[in-house]
Parts: sequence; structure tokens; C-alpha cells
Amino acid sequence: MSKRDYYDVLGVEKNADEKELKKAYRKMAMKYHPDRNPEDQKAAEKFREASEAYEILSNPEKRSRYDQFGHDGVDPQMSAGGFGGAGFDDIFSDIFDMFGGGFSSGRSRRGPRKGSDIQQYVEITFEESAFGVEKEIVFHRDEPCGTCDGSGAKPGTSSKTCGKCNGSGEVKFVQRTPLGQIMNVKPCPECGGEGKIVEEHCPACHGHGTERKQKRVKVKIPAGVDNDSVIPLRGYGEPGSKGGPHGDLYIIVRVKPHKLFKREGDNVICEMPVTFAQAALGDELEVPTLYGKVKYKMPEGTQTGTVFRLKNKGIDNPRGYGKGDQYIRVNIEVPKKLSQKQKDLLREFAKASGDEVHEQQKSFFDKVKDALS
Ligand SMILES: [Zn+2]
Ligand SMILES: [Zn+2]
Repeated sequence: MSKRDYYDVLGVEKNADEKELKKAYRKMAMKYHPDRNPEDQKAAEKFREASEAYEILSNPEKRSRYDQFGHDGVDPQMSAGGFGGAGFDDIFSDIFDMFGGGFSSGRSRRGPRKGSDIQQYVEITFEESAFGVEKEIVFHRDEPCGTCDGSGAKPGTSSKTCGKCNGSGEVKFVQRTPLGQIMNVKPCPECGGEGKIVEEHCPACHGHGTERKQKRVKVKIPAGVDNDSVIPLRGYGEPGSKGGPHGDLYIIVRVKPHKLFKREGDNVICEMPVTFAQAALGDELEVPTLYGKVKYKMPEGTQTGTVFRLKNKGIDNPRGYGKGDQYIRVNIEVPKKLSQKQKDLLREFAKASGDEVHEQQKSFFDKVKDALS
């Protein structure tokens, strides 16, 4: 079965803002919430689908990935009851408030939950972005505590099953709401939803069972990757809870500016200063490119701002659509300091030139004459 478009699922336009999304999701959640549709598989599926759509679209980063790459770009990997995201607590507490606390939150503490995603920046040079590079990424994430092996209990002591919830981690209670009585569950207050009670906390992790560790991973950054590109490493994020999978690591590429080159799409732009004499007489230029110096014959009479193209001297398209070109824009540099001899020669040059050599200037003054006469 192919996945439905998230915007269609929520019944909103592609440009829907945060408010519209929330409103649409709230409507769906009220209609299909499992508490109001007990044992209705279809409603449960609709609820899950809407929650997934809302989770992605309410997160600006995930939404932009979804807009760019579709379902492949996001991959929520959600397990039963396992959606995360800050927006959820909000919206459920909203609905919760409306019904006097009638609904249980969508995030059940029973099921396995996927760990959080991590973002990490990596800085590369312009050349590395053009040709690709392998980088070692250093990041921090939670790992099982080395002292207690993740149990949270002081070594030598053990944890016992919680007596209040018999290890299930949650307790049931009946709640009256405008919609009638609803059987609700909440995390067990005794064990905090863990189902187990640690008698003596591990001194290293204070009972959390995790410690922050530095991790390293090598990542191949493909040729042609541009600034702000995101490389996902599935399963390198924070560990999940209750046996849920790890989150993902998103590597965000920052390309350092280059002294000579600018990038526009797959093309490389280079500004090159030339002298008036070179431009007027023509010259063989030595043009820097990503692939070393290339000779280019600039014709005589080249105007300032003229752009030349060097075919296939640009950047490989990261999606395999060939290679870009390099553009050289020549700028004629007017000397600021001249020796007496240079000045004399220039004056002589000006006298010898008359009007005819400066076409643009001549036509400009012709236009002025026309316009003012
Ligand atoms: Zn520990
Ligand atoms: Zn308990």
C-alpha cells in the first residue's frame, strides 16, 4: 500500500500554516482517538496516520525535508504509540483541557519508542564540496551507563518489580467527561512508568541508566553537495526507550566560502580583474579553475563585465545530472596611481583616439543631444 500524502491526510493546503495544521489535526484526533473508538481498527489507523502526518508537518525541519523528498525524506519509523515531537504534548494537553482531561495522551509509555534525532554540523571546504570527501563526525549521545550496564541500579543491588502497577508501568483510572465516562491510563506514580523500582541508584548515572558519550562516525560526503545539505545517518541518534530503535543523526553540511570561487547551482563563478591594455588589445589569460589553471584567449576589445564560459569546469551535479560550467566575469581595473610618463602616454593616447574608438560614449552623447535638443 502506498503512503498517502500528509497534506491530504490532514486535509490541508500545501501552504497551511502552523495554526491550520493544528486545527486540522485536532479535528482528526477528536474524531478518531482510540478512547472514543474502542476496538475500531479503522479509526485507530486513521488516528495513527493523522498523528504521523502532524508529527512531520508540525516540525519545520521535517516538513521541509518532506516537501523536498516526500516520504523518503522523513521516514518516521514509528512504533505503536511512539510518536514524539514537542507539538504533541501541546496539542494533547489542549484536547485534554477541552474534555476535562478525558483523553489519554497519544504517547503511551507502554510501547517501544524511537530515540530522538541528533543534528550535527560539519564544515568542509569549497573543493571538498566539489569533489566529495570522507569526514569523521564527532557527536554526543546517550549510551548505557558503563557502571551499571544501563540498569540504573547500584552495582551489587537489584531492582524489584513495582508493586503498585505490577510491572506494567501504568495505572488505570475512570474519568468523567462531557462525553461520558472514559477509562484512562496514566504512568504509574510509584515507579514513574518504568515498572521497576531501583532500590539504590547507581552513583555514576544517578539511576538514569545512561551516560553522555562522545561518538565518532565516518561519513562519505558525496561530490557536488552544497551548503546546508543534510545527510541522514539512520540509527545513529539517541537510543530508543523500551527496546525502541535509535533515532537518526542528521549531518548538516556547511561549505566554507572560497577566496576565488562562488557557486551558483552546479556552476562556478569567478571574477577576474584585467588591465585596460589587456582588455583593449586582447590577451591570453590564465584562469584558475577547480581543476587547475586553464588558458583562455580573451579577444581584443573585451568590455568590462563580459562573461566567458569554460564548459565542464563546474561541479558534478549530486543527483547525476552532469557537470556545471565555470563562468569568468572580467572586470577592467583602472589604475589609481600613474607615473608622469604613464600620464603623458595616456594623454597622447586620448588625443590620438578622437571620438571614434569609444563607441558607447559616442552613442551616449548622441542620445544626450537627441534628448535635450
Ligand atoms: Zn549507572
Ligand atoms: Zn509502578
